[in-house]
Amino acid sequence: MTPSLLIIYTGGTIGMVKDQVTGALQPYHFEDIYKLMPVLNNFDYKLESVSFSPLIDSSNVTPSFWVKLATVIEENYAKYDGFVVLHGTDTMSYSASMLSFMLENLDKPVIFTGSQLPMGVVRTDGRDNFINAIEIAAARSDGKPLVPEVAIYFENKLMRGNRTSKFNAENFNAFLSGNFPSLAQVGVHIRYNTELILKPVSEKLIVHKKLDNSVLILKLFPGIAEVVVKNALNIAGLKGVILETYGAGNAPTDGWFIEALSQAILKGITVYNVTQCKGGAVDMGKYETSVKLGEIGVVGGYDITTESAIAKMMYLLGEGYQGEKLKELLQAPLRGELTV
Ligand code: ASP
Repeated sequence: MTPSLLIIYTGGTIGMVKDQVTGALQPYHFEDIYKLMPVLNNFDYKLESVSFSPLIDSSNVTPSFWVKLATVIEENYAKYDGFVVLHGTDTMSYSASMLSFMLENLDKPVIFTGSQLPMGVVRTDGRDNFINAIEIAAARSDGKPLVPEVAIYFENKLMRGNRTSKFNAENFNAFLSGNFPSLAQVGVHIRYNTELILKPVSEKLIVHKKLDNSVLILKLFPGIAEVVVKNALNIAGLKGVILETYGAGNAPTDGWFIEALSQAILKGITVYNVTQCKGGAVDMGKYETSVKLGEIGVVGGYDITTESAIAKMMYLLGEGYQGEKLKELLQAPLRGELTV
């Protein structure tokens, strides 16, 4: 059976051209990608595409964009064997993380890709990324998709989407999966690490569309002012805070700092401890500087990325979780986003 794939073009550099007058990069229309890449017509797959309107630079991604993307996948789920999402790189890790939570019981590939150089540029990395993402989305074994996950394909690597961060604005190798090995390596062969890839589930796809963005990322730095922390934690309606701490989950032990966090937690705000490091995990209690955080009820995020943590918080709050249940789910791997 010929695999059929839906290519969902949302915008981003991969489909951009230079404005003749200003020289700034602007999105253009997907049909032009076919003109630029006639090789696409040679694929032995059934490829269909849908373009978002408007096409966006991914800096303009919002929760309603995620709902729109999840809805396109939901509405076309039965019709296609896999999905390739062309997306700007800037917030691709956030979107791939969010989609992993929104699409529960996923049993088909949703492969995000993009590029650092526009498709119209001779040296573009977009051509390889796009072609390999298609191959991966179509790959099957025993009639089942090889990668029934939300993943990012970029520069020779397939990574679990909710494990990635964009870490380079210059290199073609733009994404890092610091705490989880690649799901596949692409060279002469595409070598899948099948033992790491999530197994397809038999339950029906559930698409979660209620997202709650009453959340904040509070990144620590030496010298962070008391007034800043207190005001941030006192924002009306705030429900969840991703606290980006140092190293293995460490934070200042100053009385005012612990007191401000403690007051916020007592008011019902959930504080999720995520490391600023791109590799390694939060281990609350390892150092004296994190013992207090545990005592006042800060929730440890293990090795989750900030991108995945904020997406998970919006998803779980949107689903109405709070208190102990919310804490429990934040500490559990729901879609392979963290290792306990
Ligand atoms: N600003 C662009 C975007 O994220 C960058 C890219 O696509 O690489 O949409």
